[in-house]
Amino acid sequence: MVATSMEQLVSLCKRRGFIFQNADIYGGMQGVYDYGPLGVELKNNLKAAWWRAMVYERDDVEGLDSAILTNRKVLKYSGHEDTFSDPMVDCKKCKGRFRADQIGGKCPNCGSTDLTDPRPFNLMFKTQVGPVESDENIAYLRPETAQAIFTQFKNVVDSTSRKLPFGIAQIGKSFRNEITPRNFIFRVREFEQAELEFFVMPGTDIDWHEKWKNARVQWWQDQGLKLEHINIYKTPDEDLAHYAKACYDIEYQFPHGMEELEGIANRRDYDLGNHTKNQEEFTLEAHCHENKESTTKLCIQDDNGKWVIPFVVEPSMGVDRGVLAVLTEAYTEEDLGEGNSRVVLKLKKHLAPIKVAIIPLKKNNEQIMTKCHELKAQLMKLGIGRVALENTGNIGKAYRRHDEVGTPLCLTVDFETIEQQPESVTIRDRDTMEQIRVNTADLAEYLRNYFL
Ligand code: ATP
Repeated sequence: MVATSMEQLVSLCKRRGFIFQNADIYGGMQGVYDYGPLGVELKNNLKAAWWRAMVYERDDVEGLDSAILTNRKVLKYSGHEDTFSDPMVDCKKCKGRFRADQIGGKCPNCGSTDLTDPRPFNLMFKTQVGPVESDENIAYLRPETAQAIFTQFKNVVDSTSRKLPFGIAQIGKSFRNEITPRNFIFRVREFEQAELEFFVMPGTDIDWHEKWKNARVQWWQDQGLKLEHINIYKTPDEDLAHYAKACYDIEYQFPHGMEELEGIANRRDYDLGNHTKNQEEFTLEAHCHENKESTTKLCIQDDNGKWVIPFVVEPSMGVDRGVLAVLTEAYTEEDLGEGNSRVVLKLKKHLAPIKVAIIPLKKNNEQIMTKCHELKAQLMKLGIGRVALENTGNIGKAYRRHDEVGTPLCLTVDFETIEQQPESVTIRDRDTMEQIRVNTADLAEYLRNYFL
């Protein structure tokens, strides 16, 4: 079972500290969310899984962590200043403002059809660097993380001696002044992306595009998404962005519909070509803008020593949409019979915010509590992630609390623990609810084997 409505997730996320509306105490800010104590763990775990698959488990990818503030020239030559816009209409009756392509000619607020003609609205957040306001000092909050990967291409190649094919991976914040943010964290104004720009020899790009599509679908399945909830949408040629040769969207069945989770584009030589000086020295396939301001040729030598501008295949995922997808998939309401039910988040264990909850059978028993604290101090240092001591409510309530946030294992200290030798605890599995007894001397090894 999966979440069937966004309300289920929004309510769980707020109640249990996954995701809060930003500036909640002042009425909130539209399209901006904060991740709470459990949300930050889940999101970090998802990012770590991506980094591991993209960087650590491959030998053809380097990492990058670039600045959010972006020099205007970068976004001028990337084409964003001119073309990164959505068509916007105003309702003449209620003065609401909407994305023309999302409302079907009718104001979603008041129903009026008296709308202005669509006008392009640039989605970038503009700011100023330094104390003087002038055209020279304009900068942007990056609308995607990719551009710095392109502008740093030469520095990465020179410092790592990479040859084609190879990629540069980056995770970080992006900002888009979306006209109508909606659907919880699906469409927001500040979000995180995990992007790989994979540079290949022209001519091998179609092959790599297929490979990356397959690899990414597998990765999403490894994060728990069922294949039957995933759709691969191939953009028809006539709808492609002008720079793209081909594009796949990995779509997921979110509670509000089947929508894009990740885009995988073949961007040919458009980006590196645009940021390159002396473009005429190369045969570029994409239609690039003339660039007299770049100081560098973003090229690399092929096996014969010839300088080429590589093609790029770009798997680009939204981390927040990823969090929403794994939450949707994991959310389960289970009927336990005899009028009992539970909500359980069946997250993959590597994504679970809390790995182990230590629960005292009786919280007013000093010996049991001392043992709980002692075990927590020991298990915290294993490197498996967060270990919590849960001492609110009775044992049944404690199990339910941790089922609801996806804690894979609950470890209970009971009277047998303190009275019998060898010392042992019970371990309860979230999904099967089965319990086993493990000697505390073997706990570290048991948990390391389970989680790592
Ligand atoms: P959409 O068509 O939904 O606006 P896009 O095609 O413009 O998305 P890309 O530019 O391809 O998106 O960005 C790559 C990924 O970044 C998307 O697949 C999505 O997961 C994420 N993303 C883009 N815009 C947003 C947003 N406003 N809020 C959250 N995630 C986003």
